[in-house]
Amino acid sequence: MDDSLLRSSGRIFVPFSSEPHSSDSQPGERFMLTQKESDRFWSNVQFTDGCWIWTGNRDRCGYGVFYRHGKRPKTHRLAFEEFYGPVTGELRVCHSCDNPPCVNPEHFFIGTQADNIGDMCSKERQPRGITHGMAKLTEHEVLTIREMHRNGQRTTPIAVQFGVCNEHVRNIILRKLWRHI
Ligand SMILES: [Zn+2]
Repeated sequence: MDDSLLRSSGRIFVPFSSEPHSSDSQPGERFMLTQKESDRFWSNVQFTDGCWIWTGNRDRCGYGVFYRHGKRPKTHRLAFEEFYGPVTGELRVCHSCDNPPCVNPEHFFIGTQADNIGDMCSKERQPRGITHGMAKLTEHEVLTIREMHRNGQRTTPIAVQFGVCNEHVRNIILRKLWRHI
């Protein structure tokens, strides 16, 4: 993908295929929206120059949720798939901004639950050419996260406070990330 498109201003749709809104369900495409669902989805978004704010339902951590077929997929994941296509396997969509309800695809990066998350989320290696805020935490913040965990804080509120994925916090606590401090 030519990510210069994504850096342009305004809301730019970058289809990943000729029929991005096909309702046919295929393996790995279970979150894809139909055209009608897509219209409903984006009508719940307040567009700004920075974050695009989901104005619909949110979960207790502040992430947007989109009720659909009895399920509640997260809105940032849906927004990601609207622009880039299905997220497969263990990959997950993370925010590079400090804003859980944000659905601006420029503010996402892809992480992984696998042991090599340190590689995937490092500054040097960025999958899919997304170049925003991979290493957003400072050493001080990482140490603070570990201290909060030692003091009995659960990972979810820590993740919300620092604007990163739960998984990211767990990997910091388990020292799969930031091993050197
Ligand atoms: Zn944002």
